[in-house]
Amino acid sequence: MSGKHTRVVIVGGGQAGGRLAQLLARDTDAAVTLVSEEPHPPYERPPLSKGVLLGTRGFESCLIWTEDDPAWRAVDLRLGVAAERIDRAARRIRLADGSELAYDHLVLATGSRLRTLTVPGSGLANVHLLRSYDQALALAGNFASGKRLVVVGGGFIGLEIAASARHRGLKTTVVEASDRLLARVVPERIARLLAQRHEAEGVALRMSAMVERFISNGRGAVKAAELSTGETLPCDVAVVGVGVAANTELAAAVGLDVDVGIRVDSALRTSDPAISAIGDVATFFHPLYDRHVRVEAWQNAEDHARVVAARLRHEAAVADSVPYFWSDQYDLSLQIVGLPHLGSSVVERCRDDGAAIHFHLDPAGRIVGATGLGTAGSIGRDIRLTQVLIAQRAHPGRAVLQDPDGRLKSLLAGDLPVPPPPSAAASSRSLPGAI
Ligand SMILES: Cc1cc2nc3c(=O)[nH]c(=O)nc-3n(C[C@H](O)[C@H](O)[C@H](O)COP(=O)(O)OP(=O)(O)OC[C@H]3O[C@@H](n4cnc5c(N)ncnc54)[C@H](O)[C@@H]3O)c2cc1C
Repeated sequence: MSGKHTRVVIVGGGQAGGRLAQLLARDTDAAVTLVSEEPHPPYERPPLSKGVLLGTRGFESCLIWTEDDPAWRAVDLRLGVAAERIDRAARRIRLADGSELAYDHLVLATGSRLRTLTVPGSGLANVHLLRSYDQALALAGNFASGKRLVVVGGGFIGLEIAASARHRGLKTTVVEASDRLLARVVPERIARLLAQRHEAEGVALRMSAMVERFISNGRGAVKAAELSTGETLPCDVAVVGVGVAANTELAAAVGLDVDVGIRVDSALRTSDPAISAIGDVATFFHPLYDRHVRVEAWQNAEDHARVVAARLRHEAAVADSVPYFWSDQYDLSLQIVGLPHLGSSVVERCRDDGAAIHFHLDPAGRIVGATGLGTAGSIGRDIRLTQVLIAQRAHPGRAVLQDPDGRLKSLLAGDLPVPPPPSAAASSRSLPGAI
């Protein structure tokens, strides 16, 4: 696939697309075109709900390519224009501005988009969403001490926004439909610890409650949120964080296999060998778990970019790394490795300093995931060791897992080095909050 005349078109200039373009620009002589509907060159999203809202990170520090990166010269960047239609037979894509691009290989890196609320008043000014840098900037512009903020959704993004808002002095309430935070993604005890910390920081939590209506102040802005519980929460700003859905439309329209994402094999090839899908949008076959999975995480986008870059250099590569996700709230780091939801039992390791790691085991006792909460320093090493255990398909004894002083390294097969922090290894410049 490499060669002067190989035309690689990447649709989507987020983490996966941006990194892939950079790798191809460095390591191949392919002609790379990157199409992004956003007006900005590729940037990282994790800082948006953290440093950008806190006012400590500007756009430059979120860029995926450093100032002197060869990608700036080598990649044909088509910004602010969406890809609208693929012609598989002719191997061309049409863009929203009417232009067309021919490809030898097409990579769909279209990511996810936010789910929106359809309740009355959702379109009022000061009812925000957070996925892009521009949206983060608009929200940050409304962050002034003493303002009242309603966060709809007690998921990762909602909770990071709440933590940043408290830091900026906003009176913050989180409204969550479930009876606990992060209901589908972390164990009950971890969610409780996190809820306690948010309350200690001054966040008001409204569980088992839904926003039924945003009330206008008569001048087009929100002044209150009406809840299903009958409560009315006065507010100056609201932000909706109720999950995301994969941008699969381009693929579905031309008959590629699509489920909750674009279905690909472990080398990230779609049902058309001339088209790959990577990052949030890809439902890929994970050899370690022997099933298709879709992972919405920074590290997954990075790993996928590397796999396709290697494949386009004719190197064998499969997406088999152990999934990793982190979230920073206050000085706490929540870190998830593997696929905890595949576990049927949990072993808890709790330390005196309040740090906790829950190990998730399948019915045969194989470790399939772990969820940790603590400072990055207190849980980072054990989380990274657990990644290796998961990769080794280990069946560790419960006693060592449970013992706060138990050495996870002693459970590893072979004397393997502890891997570097996953995110820092790939992007230490951009992610100071990561382990
Ligand atoms: C606020 C926020 C905080 C986050 N924090 C963390 C964190 O702490 N830890 C973590 O692990 N993950 C975090 N994530 C998730 C992580 O950023 C994503 O998993 C990652 O960005 C996925 O990369 P991607 O390239 O697949 O998709 P995206 O980054 O979503 O990029 C897709 C791009 O494709 C563009 N696009 C879509 N359709 C088209 C089209 N038809 N034509 C042209 N362009 C198109 C989109 O506009 C977008 O720019 C966070 C995400 C957000 C939004």
